[in-house]
Amino acid sequence: ATAIVGSRATGTEPHVAENYSPLPVTIARGEGVWVADAEGKRYLDLLAAYSAVNFGHRHPALVAAVEEQLGRITLTSRAFRSDMLEPFAAALARLCGKDLVLPMNTGAEAVETGIKVARAWGYRVKGVAPEAARIVVAAGNFHGRTTTIVGFSDDPVAREGFGPFAPGFDVVPYGDAEALVAAITDETVAVLIEPIQGEAGVIIPPEDYLRRIREVCTERNVLFIADEIQSGLGRVGETFACDREGVVPDLYLLGKALGGGILPVSAVVGDRDVLGVIRPGEHGSTFGGNPLAAAVGLRVVEMLESGEFQERAAALGEHLRSGLEAFLGHGVTEVRVAGLWAGVDIDPAIGTGREIAERLMERGVLVKDTHGQTVRIAPPIVIRTTELDWALEQLRFVLDA
Ligand code: PLP
Repeated sequence: ATAIVGSRATGTEPHVAENYSPLPVTIARGEGVWVADAEGKRYLDLLAAYSAVNFGHRHPALVAAVEEQLGRITLTSRAFRSDMLEPFAAALARLCGKDLVLPMNTGAEAVETGIKVARAWGYRVKGVAPEAARIVVAAGNFHGRTTTIVGFSDDPVAREGFGPFAPGFDVVPYGDAEALVAAITDETVAVLIEPIQGEAGVIIPPEDYLRRIREVCTERNVLFIADEIQSGLGRVGETFACDREGVVPDLYLLGKALGGGILPVSAVVGDRDVLGVIRPGEHGSTFGGNPLAAAVGLRVVEMLESGEFQERAAALGEHLRSGLEAFLGHGVTEVRVAGLWAGVDIDPAIGTGREIAERLMERGVLVKDTHGQTVRIAPPIVIRTTELDWALEQLRFVLDA
């Protein structure tokens, strides 16, 4: 008990495994775009939990949905039906323009589910020889932390020390459609791609890349799996990053914001001819699709149906873009913006991404660095223009310092 009180007071975490190196801030509360530590010092949250908090901290409509459901039932398991899962699945399928939803919890589980569905589809529908299925993925990918997933990462920090890894993946350069086309064989069952690479530093592929993938996947009878776990659900100014090129994948992988920043909720969404290959007993999760998750997921989908958040992200994103582009040549070497989502490459002469994040933190702005020199900006979509301007002012100060 002493240790617990002590760590609360000091903000240290002596009993937490060090699989992260958090900024030295200990958050105790949050509302909308703002979080605060125990002493009440406020910070503007420009990370939004890697886009899981797209609607802001404790959005009243989401909290209400959860509170209402807490008073009824929270967990049934899928051994029985709950009266919340079908309404959630129906709404999410409609949002995606698809037939079926397979609910899971975390993003990594949705990716694993997508891989299983693709392989089963390959053997049972496409007619690939047993155990021969291959999946094409992109260099620089981030799809989660399971052993299968890190096995096809090319980030040494993610994979070294964790093998042996599952076979069956072919890695091609990201953004190079022709390299991807060349990697497809008769054994290829799927192309698994982030339509914008998030963890890699908000890497936006060249125009037409997704359209070319769609085209070749249709031609060669290969599933196009879009990992929209970070890019989807309003972040880029559209419902999905695939919408930027007017492309519809065979499977959407969704997570993060689907749980409204309250619960882990993920899903694989696709048509019956693909997702229907999974038979009873072949796949599942104790918590996947639980009534509480379904209640919050349903409310998230309802909030996205009006298009209001997508429009807001698009408009604020243009504001963010012009604000950030003004820093080019002034401590910033490159800026990549898609909706309300930006990767900002810091001039090494000014500092590392981590150092910039620490200096911003001292001025009340929270961001996360990635891959050394990049700072990622992804505020909750409920942010006001004045708040965004204030954050940009803090960045200007930090870059000049
Ligand atoms: N896929 C993408 C594109 C992601 O950005 C992430 C997380 O950052 C994941 C999958 C994994 O999600 P989770 O951390 O919920 O397992």
